[in-house]
Amino acid sequence: MNCPACDSPGPVPVLTVSSPDGLLAKDFRVLKCPGCGLGLTDPPPTGSELSVLYSTDYHAPEKGPGKGGWVARLRLLFLAHRFRRIERELGSGTLLDYGCGNGEFVEYARGRGVDAAGIEPNYASSSASVRRSLNELPPGARYGLATLWHVLEHMDSPVKELGALSERLDAGGRIFISVPNFDSWEAGFGGAEWFHLDAPRHVLHYTPRSLELVLGKSGLRLRSLSFSFGLYGVFGMFQTLLNLFCERNFLYYSLKRGTDYRRKMTAGRYALTIACHALLIPALLPLSSALAFAAALAGRSGSMDAVCERAHEV
Ligand SMILES: [Zn+2]
Repeated sequence: MNCPACDSPGPVPVLTVSSPDGLLAKDFRVLKCPGCGLGLTDPPPTGSELSVLYSTDYHAPEKGPGKGGWVARLRLLFLAHRFRRIERELGSGTLLDYGCGNGEFVEYARGRGVDAAGIEPNYASSSASVRRSLNELPPGARYGLATLWHVLEHMDSPVKELGALSERLDAGGRIFISVPNFDSWEAGFGGAEWFHLDAPRHVLHYTPRSLELVLGKSGLRLRSLSFSFGLYGVFGMFQTLLNLFCERNFLYYSLKRGTDYRRKMTAGRYALTIACHALLIPALLPLSSALAFAAALAGRSGSMDAVCERAHEV
């Protein structure tokens, strides 16, 4: 097998990972390319495995932002944080959120006066602005900015998909890609418990070098790559540290997906998990903030943001 980013032969196994929530009764390996550091989930999940992996409560429930409850308020903060990240890249003001899940970022941007649409193949959104594929967009529709919020790592054919997406850009349009960083400190110490690993849903695990190579193969040019200290950085570090001691991603699934672990766990295991969190959260929160800040300064944060454009304008 050759690396899809740099074509080097011989990626080597570095991790063995059980599937999230025990959804599949088998383990997966993560291979690493010796040339560019790209990680590859091996074997990639089959079609029927993918439908199991995305069929449960993977996507956040469809409750519009701002509708009561502290979880909803946290979601709203998160969407505002995302919006601030891309505001200056908006160009002509039209936005296409590619892999938009339940469409909440599309709706948030529309609420801020942006002409926004979304693409999501795996989720039937009730939003009229969300389509299943690029082919369902009006034929002449072009966008000033396309966003991929932790979507690229799910694609098994990123070059093909990014190429098709770039054809939907305005002249001078840009693509903003937020993606986990396999070369981060937290990927290193978290190993199979790294929050952003999420294999086998994540089929490719990017490093800065492999990301730039895949963009190049897609006809795109990297304008900037940043390692910001923000919600993604702190939360990823925090959840990775928690994962080393407690049930994997318990806090994240509870917050994002509203997963009710009382139904999924025995009473004893649930009580133990809550106690573990109560004990560790006060210590790990300040530690994660400090570590995430240092990681961002060192260019080794768990999530990286790329802004790119077409290498050759058509
Ligand atoms: Zn490679």
